[in-house]
Amino acid sequence: MTDLPLYPLIINGERTEPAAGHYADVINPATGDCIGRAAMGDATDVDRAVAAARGAFEQRQWREMAPAERSKVLYACAHTVMQNAQELIELEIGCSGATLNRAVNLDIPAVADLWMNLAEAVKTYPFVTNQSPRPLPEQWHSQVWKEPVGVCGLITAWNFPLLLFSWKVGPALAAGNTMVLKPSELTPTSSIRLAELLQAVLPPGVLNVVNGDGAAVGDAMTLHPDIDKISFTGSTRVGRIVQTNCASTMKRCTLELGGKGPGVVLPDADLDMVAQGALWAVYMNAGQACESGTRLLVHDSIYEPLLQKLAERSGQVVVGNPADPATGVGPMATETHFKRVMGYIESGIADGARVICGGGPASVPGCEGGFFIQPTVLADVTNEMRVAREEIFGPVLAVIRYSDIDEAIRIANDSDYGLSAGIWTGDLVKAQQVARELRAGSVWVNDWHMMRTDAPFGGYKQSGYGRELGAWSIDSYVETKAVQMSFERNPLRKNGQRIVHTRMGQ
Ligand code: NDP
Repeated sequence: MTDLPLYPLIINGERTEPAAGHYADVINPATGDCIGRAAMGDATDVDRAVAAARGAFEQRQWREMAPAERSKVLYACAHTVMQNAQELIELEIGCSGATLNRAVNLDIPAVADLWMNLAEAVKTYPFVTNQSPRPLPEQWHSQVWKEPVGVCGLITAWNFPLLLFSWKVGPALAAGNTMVLKPSELTPTSSIRLAELLQAVLPPGVLNVVNGDGAAVGDAMTLHPDIDKISFTGSTRVGRIVQTNCASTMKRCTLELGGKGPGVVLPDADLDMVAQGALWAVYMNAGQACESGTRLLVHDSIYEPLLQKLAERSGQVVVGNPADPATGVGPMATETHFKRVMGYIESGIADGARVICGGGPASVPGCEGGFFIQPTVLADVTNEMRVAREEIFGPVLAVIRYSDIDEAIRIANDSDYGLSAGIWTGDLVKAQQVARELRAGSVWVNDWHMMRTDAPFGGYKQSGYGRELGAWSIDSYVETKAVQMSFERNPLRKNGQRIVHTRMGQ
């Protein structure tokens, strides 16, 4: 036990012991083994981290750094990720159950790409915009300035620790803020290590990390009077608490929450393409992704043939040790979550859904202590069932039948969520028409998870608000200041003032 690596807090550029001295085990979800111990901070630690961030903000070095210089630092962040990719990949797999395939081919390239995109975007970001001049006689010179919000509190979920870290820390830094990050206590190791590595290129106090229990550290952050903005990724349930807490000090708040992505399959769609794509939509990261395509809406005319193809394809997906490059679907992140997902499958069956494939736990040789579930397709689901309404966050696809496109659109939009949606068709004119009707922040045609690091991502409805990725993400971390200057020196020509000085010039 004593040989296990320790992951402390990061405050003011230093590895820091938690005030109360508590550490918690970090569990590898593929084996159930403890792989390290992470510091469990509390409200005292949040105070210390916020004081460090505030100090760095007031010290001005970071926030007043010229964009071209800040760009170089953001490039250095990208290089830090690439130079330490192997270690970060191992940590990500160990703490979150990410597959090697995903970490190597998706996470690390996307993280590095995101930092490089921000490094470019910050050079041309409109930190100062000149507005067109007003006509004579009074010429106001008007500018719009974008200034950092101040100290940001960043709270991330457990499903993509490194990506979510970068989605928040990257633009918050680009805008010139200082910050305190709280990773999920379930998967903190890769985030703490990346933050530690980045200290080599950032001024002290700019990026601080306080791991800890969601309610204790999260509440301390969202209620903290000296945090100016919260950016949160997590469940809609906790998002509501976060938004309520932020109101206490009128903190700026952006929320990236859950989803229940509907994929609408039009009658003309290529069924082989849909079968493969719809399973990629729901099985990526074992279904533990907010933007997953979890409801597949299939036209009557192709319903049974598509179900058959889904069952065949699903049976070919390899569930296994995430560290094995052949693995396509890894474990659930925790035992509690495993039980929750199994409970959803049982509720679907009890409500009348038909199991086309999967439906139970999966056993993986060498990973007997892991939390694996068979990739599962449930057919004959209706949109009223719990499996169609609630976020399962597991490898479970709910297939719903429809008869005409208006019905499909109505079902697709009949959800509290509005994060992602998709359309499968060869008719791109029809795809555009349907895309207009779908109430979601991202609409994908003939594929899924098409998230570009230079395109906005975020939710409609109870999937939250604010946009991440691209230059849009910087907008979420700035205040907007209007600065108007009068060049008129003659008081008699300041016409607006006649409203008070009615005898001016007499
Ligand atoms: P949770 O909402 O349970 O937790 C998210 C984060 O909030 C964690 O760091 C958690 O800490 C913390 N937290 C818990 N309670 C509080 C509180 N009272 N105040 C402040 N913070 C708190 O979500 P999960 O971690 O289970 O993540 C899954 C959810 O995230 C899904 O709903 C998914 O859809 C969503 N998600 C959304 C994304 C998007 O971009 N829209 C992307 C990825 C995920 P701890 O874990 O330590 O308890």
